[in-house]
Amino acid sequence: MGPHSDSQHLEMDRCSEPAFQRHTGPGGVQVSSCECCVPAPFLPDARDPRSPVKQLRPGWPAHPEPCQNFEQVLGTGTGCHPPVFQPGFKMLSLKLPRLLNMEQVPQVFHEQGILFGYRHPQSSATACLLSLFQMTNETLNIWTHLLPFWFFSWRFVSTLQATDILNDSYSWPLLVYMGASCLFPLASSCAHTFSSMSRNARHICYFLDYGAVNLFSLGCAIAYSAYVFPDTLVGTTFHDYYLTLAVLNTIVSIWLSCYSRFFEIQKPGLCKMLRVLAFAFPYTWDSLPILFRVFLFPGESAENEATLYHQKHMAMTLLASFFYSAHLPERLAPGRFDYIGHSHQLFHVCVILATHMQMEAILLDKTLRKEWLLAHCRPLLFAQIAGAILLCLIFSLSNIVYFSSALYRIPEPELHKKET
Ligand SMILES: [Zn+2]
Repeated sequence: MGPHSDSQHLEMDRCSEPAFQRHTGPGGVQVSSCECCVPAPFLPDARDPRSPVKQLRPGWPAHPEPCQNFEQVLGTGTGCHPPVFQPGFKMLSLKLPRLLNMEQVPQVFHEQGILFGYRHPQSSATACLLSLFQMTNETLNIWTHLLPFWFFSWRFVSTLQATDILNDSYSWPLLVYMGASCLFPLASSCAHTFSSMSRNARHICYFLDYGAVNLFSLGCAIAYSAYVFPDTLVGTTFHDYYLTLAVLNTIVSIWLSCYSRFFEIQKPGLCKMLRVLAFAFPYTWDSLPILFRVFLFPGESAENEATLYHQKHMAMTLLASFFYSAHLPERLAPGRFDYIGHSHQLFHVCVILATHMQMEAILLDKTLRKEWLLAHCRPLLFAQIAGAILLCLIFSLSNIVYFSSALYRIPEPELHKKET
C-alpha cells in the first residue's frame, strides 16, 4: 500500500504547528508548504468545511495557507494528507498505492516465487477494490475469475430464460450446476480482492472461497448423476448412493481445506498436501462416472460427442492441479512472474477452461441422452437436490464460522510463527 493509503495515513503523525515556506506553485499560484508534512497536496480552500480534505479525513489539521509539492508526493511517500483532486492543478488523485516487496509484508501473505507487487497487508476495502485497476501481483488473479463469472452468469441466465423451471424437472440438475459454476469464480475473485485487508480477513476470504468450490463440486455431482452416468451403472447401488457420498465429501473437504490454512506458515508442505487432498478427493469421486464411461464401458449409448469434452475437461483439470501444486514457473525464476504468468493465474485459466468444457459436455449429454435417460433413469427429485444443497450449505457455513472464530481464539504469533 502506498503513501496515501488510509491505513498509513492513520499511522502518520499529524501536523501540529507547521512552519510555512512560501513559493510559487503550478500555474503561478502562490502556495505554501509546511516542513512537517511536505510533500502534502493541499487545497486552497482547505479551511472550508466543504473541503474534500476534511471530507476525506475528518479532523485533519487545516493549514492557514495551501501547500503543494507534486513531485515529492509522487516519490517519497511521506505526505500526510489524503490525495485529492484539485482542479487547475495536476491530477494528484490518480496516484496509486505504492506496492510492497516480499520482506515488507508479514509471512502469511508471502507467495512462493513472488517477490514484488504485494498490496499493503492492512488495506481498506476501498483500496482493495481500487487494486482491481492497479497492476499488483493479485490483479490478474482477480480478473481471471471475475470475467468468467460474468460469462457463466450470462449462460446461466440464458438457460434459465429458455427453461420452463416449474415443469421441466429434467433440467433442474443442469440449473443447479450452472448456478454453482457462477458462484465459485465470484467467490474466488472476491477472496483475491479483499485478502489484503488483514491476516484474519485473508484466511476468512479463502474459507469462503473453499466453501464455494465445495458447492460447485456438489453441483457437478448432481449434474453427473442426472446426465453423465454410463448406461451400465444407471440405477445401480453406486448410482443410488453417489450423491449422498458426494455430500459427505463436501463436508470433509471444507473441513480439511479450512484446517490446512492453520499450517500455512509452520508446515507449508503439509498445508499444501492437505489442501490438494481436500479438493482432489471430491473431484475424483465426482469423476468416477466419467472414468468408468471412458475406460470401462466404451461404446455404450453414452458414447457421444460429449465424451471428447469430458476428456478435455479432465486433461485441463490435471493441468490446473499441476500449476496449483508445482508453483511453476515462478519457482524457477523468482521475481520474473510477479505480475503476469505466475502459477496461480495459469491455474485460474485452466480451471475456467476446464469448467467451460465440462459445461459443454453436460449440455451435450443432457440433450443427446434425454430420451434414453427419461426411459431408464429415475430423475432426481426436488427434495433430493434441495436437501443435498442445504446440507452442503449448512455444514460448509458451520465449518467456516468455526474456523473463522478459531482465528481469533488462537494468538497471532502461534498462528503465524514459522517452525524452526
Ligand atoms: Zn485463486
